[in-house]
Amino acid sequence: MPRLTVLSGPSGVGKGTVVAAVRRLFPQIWVSVSATTRAPRPGETDGVEYHFVDRDTFARMVKDGELLEHAEFAGNCYGTPRAPLERRLADGVPCLLEIDLQGARQVRASRPDALFVFLAPPSWEELVRRLTGRGTEPPEVVARRLDQARVELAAEPEFDEVVVNDDVEAAATRLVSLMVDP
Ligand code: 5GP
Repeated sequence: MPRLTVLSGPSGVGKGTVVAAVRRLFPQIWVSVSATTRAPRPGETDGVEYHFVDRDTFARMVKDGELLEHAEFAGNCYGTPRAPLERRLADGVPCLLEIDLQGARQVRASRPDALFVFLAPPSWEELVRRLTGRGTEPPEVVARRLDQARVELAAEPEFDEVVVNDDVEAAATRLVSLMVDP
């Protein structure tokens, strides 16, 4: 039974929302809290969604080998603290990482035994709608984001399982059933 599960997928697909539903509905799953240099958004609490750290602290964590993987995304650094994850895994607790594709590839290199789940949009049109939803960005920014989404969607065959995010709670439930009852 895989104890470590990595959830990844294109940006805009709703990974954060599905993981928030896992936290709410399935307290038996331990969700890793990443370190990031990005500023908290309204409603986010240090130590809950993320550990918010400055760039010097992040660089020190990288240097000291404290992160299982790390990546830069949209100008900010993100990484998975190694020690708390290893503690839970040693206790036999099912653990979930929600990370970007670069991070997922790094974890695959160091932990090939983990379960890799790709969160997919219901359709390309729906992903376009989610990525362009706010309608406030300049067209070249939107175009760049859509190009990036096309590249990210092409990573799907690298994953063991695909969960379609058509409904947040249903997607969270399917994800957890893969984690605990493969
Ligand atoms: P956001 O800033 O919107 O919370 O997250 C931006 C991106 O960073 C998302 O794709 C999210 O999956 C990814 N991310 C969050 N934590 C980590 C992490 O620890 N490592 C990596 N590689 N990506 C992460």
